[in-house]
Amino acid sequence: MRLLVTGGAGYVGGVCAKVLLESGHEVVVVDDLSTGNADGVPLGARFVEGDIAEVAPRLLAAETFDGVLHFAAMSLVGESVEQPEKYWHGNVVKTLTLLEAMRAAGVGRLVFSSTAAVYGEPQRVPITEEEPTRPTNPYGASKLAIDHAITSYAVAHGLAATSLRYFNVAGAYAGLGENRVVETHLIPLVLQVAAGYRKSISIFGTDWPTADGTAVRDYIHIRDLALAHLLALNTAEAGTHRLFNLGSGAGFSVREVISACRRVTGLPIPTVEAPRRPGDPATLIASSARAVAELGWQPEHTDLDEIVADAWEYLRGLGSRAHAAQQ
Ligand code: UDP
Repeated sequence: MRLLVTGGAGYVGGVCAKVLLESGHEVVVVDDLSTGNADGVPLGARFVEGDIAEVAPRLLAAETFDGVLHFAAMSLVGESVEQPEKYWHGNVVKTLTLLEAMRAAGVGRLVFSSTAAVYGEPQRVPITEEEPTRPTNPYGASKLAIDHAITSYAVAHGLAATSLRYFNVAGAYAGLGENRVVETHLIPLVLQVAAGYRKSISIFGTDWPTADGTAVRDYIHIRDLALAHLLALNTAEAGTHRLFNLGSGAGFSVREVISACRRVTGLPIPTVEAPRRPGDPATLIASSARAVAELGWQPEHTDLDEIVADAWEYLRGLGSRAHAAQQ
């Protein structure tokens, strides 16, 4: 298929673009590089730099595409609380423009990056797609609003759409990994401490109602996540909007993640106990049973140490490239 990938210079979009290319698809990436890096666009993809709301409609009108994978988004929870307008505009308004451009061009296949944040504080874990959607921040609310818009486009205009609700994506694949200007995610931050870029890792809350008092999350390997996109694309049906949770199905506490990072790196990794981060739920674990049953998806890299080891290898590669560039 000939595919338009928005946000393909970012971590998730870049790895998904890579996996699509490896499966024989042709990929055009649109990204404004506001948070991504041109280095994150995989070799073999055509890259058009610019605002998705301007560039994507132009490309969709001028060229033939079989589908769109929409990753471009703002995704910092804290920022969304302080500057919600950025999220309503950057996520919702721009996606509505994209949906209209797809409709005008007759492009009927869409895979959308949704998020576990649409569920907010869950009543039951593991979290199924039946869980009530009550996002606790504008980021999750903006993604949920888009999910609703997509459902109505599927019903009214025959869109073949899939929303994939990611839990905690981590790891690296094919030289592509987490390399953000502003990093807020646990695994890359802990590994930056191991690499000596930071002094210590703050543990946000040690009084959560969990076994060791720290928050529990479901970490999914980026390659497993990318493969789900491929399956979603291949099995899409016109007039249907499917929603799938994607996680590994196991929960690890912040302390367990730090221990895994110590095992993998062989380094001590100092910690500091800090207050809870506002808006964080205690435990988020996915039920991916629907994705397994309906997409035929099976996560392969569910071992936390393997996920951390891939992230560590990527980070060390970045460090040695930066070092080489300074020589
Ligand atoms: N976390 C932490 N210290 C940090 C960053 C994150 O203790 O410096 C915790 C965070 O409170 C959450 C878990 O690690 O419980 C995963 O956070 P992350 O930001 O990676 O993903 P989220 O679950 O918020 O999407």
